Amino acid sequence: MAGLFEGKQGLITGVFNKQSIAWAIAERVMNEGGVCGFTHMPDKPDDTRKKNEGRLTKLIDGNPSAKFVIPMDVTKDEHIAAVAEKTKSEFGKIDFVLHSIAFAPPEDLRGETVATSRDGFKLAMEISAYSLLALSNAVRPLLNPDASILTLTYYGGEKMVQGYNVMGVCKAALDSCVKYLAYELGADSIRVNALSAGPMQTISGRGAGVDDMLKLYEGMAPLNRNVTHEEAGKSGAFLLSDMSSGVTGEILHLDCGYNVMGSPGRMVEKH
Ligand code: NAD
Repeated sequence: MAGLFEGKQGLITGVFNKQSIAWAIAERVMNEGGVCGFTHMPDKPDDTRKKNEGRLTKLIDGNPSAKFVIPMDVTKDEHIAAVAEKTKSEFGKIDFVLHSIAFAPPEDLRGETVATSRDGFKLAMEISAYSLLALSNAVRPLLNPDASILTLTYYGGEKMVQGYNVMGVCKAALDSCVKYLAYELGADSIRVNALSAGPMQTISGRGAGVDDMLKLYEGMAPLNRNVTHEEAGKSGAFLLSDMSSGVTGEILHLDCGYNVMGSPGRMVEKH
């Protein structure tokens, strides 16, 4: 049986290491026959070991479904333009784009939202929300009709989640970007969605205080457990593929049902 992504090609951003949600989705896409180009954070000029590039290259390790690797810092327009150029020269047209990027300065994440610094707020918004617009605009001419753009969001953009702070404000903006993009790119039959994952053990997750959230979700979610990387891969692949044709502007909660709870419920304690 042909894979879900047979004959499809696209761009994957946000793979930092094998725990990254982007990697879970990329693996699934490639296993289903998709061909991917990858971006990574540029290495510092004095980093002779090129750690970011090296980590990604090692993960891909000669996989023929991984076509290219290119640095991209989304705060730099020239990087985004270079990624679009490379994608065009390697693929011509593309069928999917995964945006899996977020950042807030740790000192702003740790402090109260009310005390967020002006510069910290601007940087967090630029990297975590504006970059979806900038990247979508840059690759727009390359998108086949029926192409799918997917970003990663979190419930802390819909409701106040203690400790998520300025990142919650960024996710609210990101969720809104998804809806406006869905409308505007919908004119060319392009879909734009967000996957709202429950807490997961990743570098970014740890920065946002994931440990307490993992316990809370396990106790309170209807399924009394947390989501797995494999499930992130499956839901991400679903939204990037034709299996979700007809779905756009949507925020799909992959959280074992946590978001439907209006009271603590069973509060199962496993430890
Ligand atoms: P991760 O740390 O593996 O991925 C975050 C990625 O953002 C990294 O690859 C990093 O290099 C990239 N990034 C940061 N600043 C950048 C910049 N200036 N330019 C380009 N790339 C930049 O962690 P993750 O948990 O896989 O995060 C991916 C997405 O999933 C994020 O949007 C995050 O908010 C979201 N998310 C995470 C969780 C969780 O609990 N881990 C839950 C819901 C949503």
